[in-house]
Amino acid sequence: MKTYSNYIAGKWSPSASGKTKEIINPATQEVVGSAQVSTTEDLDAAVNAATEARFSWAKLSGAARGDYLYKVANLIEARLDEIAQTMTEEMGKTFPEAKGETARGVAILRYYAGEGLRKIGDVIPSTDNEAFMFTKRVPLGVVGIITPWNFPVAIPIWKMAPALIYGNTIIIKPASETAITAAKVIECFHEAGIPEGVVNMVTGPGSVIGNGIVNHPGITGISFTGSDTVGREIAKGAVARGAKFQLEMGGKNPVIIAADADLDKAVEGTISGAFRSTGQKCTATSRVLVHSSIKDAFTDKLLSAMEDIKIGNGMEDGVWMGPCSSEAQMETVLSYIEKGKEEGAKLIHGGNRLTDSEYGKGFFVEPTIFDDVDSKMQIAQEEIFGPVIALIPFDDIEEAFNLANDTPFGLSASIYTENIGAMLQFIDQVDAGLVRINAETAGVELQAPFGGMKQSSSHSREQGEAAIEFYTSIKTVFVKG
Ligand code: NAD
Repeated sequence: MKTYSNYIAGKWSPSASGKTKEIINPATQEVVGSAQVSTTEDLDAAVNAATEARFSWAKLSGAARGDYLYKVANLIEARLDEIAQTMTEEMGKTFPEAKGETARGVAILRYYAGEGLRKIGDVIPSTDNEAFMFTKRVPLGVVGIITPWNFPVAIPIWKMAPALIYGNTIIIKPASETAITAAKVIECFHEAGIPEGVVNMVTGPGSVIGNGIVNHPGITGISFTGSDTVGREIAKGAVARGAKFQLEMGGKNPVIIAADADLDKAVEGTISGAFRSTGQKCTATSRVLVHSSIKDAFTDKLLSAMEDIKIGNGMEDGVWMGPCSSEAQMETVLSYIEKGKEEGAKLIHGGNRLTDSEYGKGFFVEPTIFDDVDSKMQIAQEEIFGPVIALIPFDDIEEAFNLANDTPFGLSASIYTENIGAMLQFIDQVDAGLVRINAETAGVELQAPFGGMKQSSSHSREQGEAAIEFYTSIKTVFVKG
């Protein structure tokens, strides 16, 4: 089993701690490999390298920086199957999904490579007719990137690519659970010849390296994706020292199934939104609001479609849903299922860990459906991050909109209806950054702004053109002849 190193100043180096951590395959409990348990000394070295590289990287033209991203994209594409397999082994996502995600990473790199040729400012008329006034976007400097395990290629890349194209140097701290996938992506940057110090990776505990990034005076911007609990801590630290920050956090995403919904499409969207990736998506469907008049028909179709879900090791052919990403994650999911039962919700499907011999030592949990859930129950309010949904009945569409908004989160929301009026009202009334009509809650396009409302996100959006807001500062320049 290989031990992966940190990547600092263009070199692979073990941590000063001398400690490494094994990464466990959640489908088998086999060891995938090991990564460094780094210290703040390692982080300091990475910040020094990124600081040294900062001005020479920023001086390159956007097109030249883009050329590196194109090269990285090609290298990842050439290793797509290998990287995707590592992802499946580290966090359990099925191999086809892991390949799709890796291909998304490639597409994001190419998108931002092209951004290197687009405009980075505006001409603004001055009140002084003899002056020339314009804005110019400039890099922040050194950016710290902290990422979760659930999209271990796409999320790091959707932060790294814009950070780099707009001229920043970076330090990435990937989730410990998926440090090898991250290392393989960084290998592609290395192979592409990215200049020394421009990209640095330090692996290790969030409490040490993540927290170290938040509090490091040499880091000007912090981009975080992860849980809202950690996000709130990061916000405190960043505000205290005046660092620019951006947080993408959890969701408790509702889908409304209106009385006139196409039930087959609604069932398909609900299952895909809720159980793909074992429900471990920030945009996963978790609250299913169903009009009382069609609830029985919808539930029957849903239960019958659940029979087609094949659960197993994500590397096996035909498997549709893999394990929970870790033992801890599985325990969290099982404890929410227990809570749901205690709260009096009606368990109508699943609810257990799968322990038959075909599942071996894997952390498999059945896709689980609770019916007759009250919106105020814990299972309907808190992010479970697993394959569990709550069916909540409603009688009129206004009530459904209120229920959709009845959580502290606001990431994604969808509605199945044929009624244009209901669609328009939903678009206006729902508190969500992603609003989806006749489509599942879990859907993100790389060229469109991504982010949520309320407790789900903080500060500027990610992806597409929106990313420039975070990764640059604006200078207003006044020139008098
Ligand atoms: P997490 O918050 O536990 O960890 C995320 C990252 O933060 C990891 O790299 C972790 O090591 C680091 N970290 C932990 N403690 C830290 C601290 N005190 N200071 C700084 N960094 C610290 O989240 P997770 O379990 O890896 O991922 C699941 C969560 O991510 C879910 O809540 C999910 O909704 C969210 N998520 C959100 C989005 C989005 O775009 N909104 C996308 C994917 C995942």
